[in-house]
Amino acid sequence: MNNEWELKKLIVEIGHRIWLRGYVASNDGNITIKLNDDELLTTPTGVSKGFMNVDMIIKVDKNGKVISGNPKYKPSSEVKMHLEVYKERPDIKSVVHAHPPYATSFAVAGIPLNRCVLPEAVLVIGAVPTAKYGLPSTMEIPDSIREFIKSSDAILLENHGALTLGSDLLNAYHKMETLEHTASIVWKAIQLGNVNVLPENERDRLMTLREKFGMAGRVATCDATPMPSSTNSFGEDSKSGDTKINEQMIREIAEKVIAKLKNN
Ligand SMILES: [Zn+2]
Repeated sequence: MNNEWELKKLIVEIGHRIWLRGYVASNDGNITIKLNDDELLTTPTGVSKGFMNVDMIIKVDKNGKVISGNPKYKPSSEVKMHLEVYKERPDIKSVVHAHPPYATSFAVAGIPLNRCVLPEAVLVIGAVPTAKYGLPSTMEIPDSIREFIKSSDAILLENHGALTLGSDLLNAYHKMETLEHTASIVWKAIQLGNVNVLPENERDRLMTLREKFGMAGRVATCDATPMPSSTNSFGEDSKSGDTKINEQMIREIAEKVIAKLKNN
């Protein structure tokens, strides 16, 4: 699978997939693959990632200068952000940047996606840090992500989107899927009125499992403290706590209504 043409074809396929899943709008998003220490493949700027072909993928050097490609297309304007990742993380071979709506909503709302909620997410993306807002295409974004990419393979970009890193393109893309899937479930649980966070001992068991599986990549340890305004009754009997309070409240309200009706 290391044939350059095949890697370009894979970028085209993943680009189509991120567009199809609504992770990008219009010409948003960018994908790179590191070929070696001096060269990488990048998506072009100003093109929908859903409608690329192999001819549009550009080869650049470690400074972002074009080595080869169709002169009609220019490299992604965010290539600096990708180069920053490869500089900091020699283990990373591919980077995906998109604006998946649920994850981006958290990045806009300023609510961190750092709690231990779903076992898969604890293992694959951990606590997702949010990098400070930076002006797209400038060095502000590489500067803002620098600290976080050292310890995490998934990063939210404040008021912008998300970035995932992988040992290959599929690995980086799957982290984007896990991130968006987790964000959508946490968002929905918030709408339902409660988010049960996995407790510390469960998180520790998952981290031990991660070590045992020899999982690649880096994850920041997720936060096992309850979400604000949640009851966090994880593992408790469903008849306890909140349910009891609700039943009691309903009974009290019913009694008051009956008393009022009697008085009439
Ligand atoms: Zn973007």
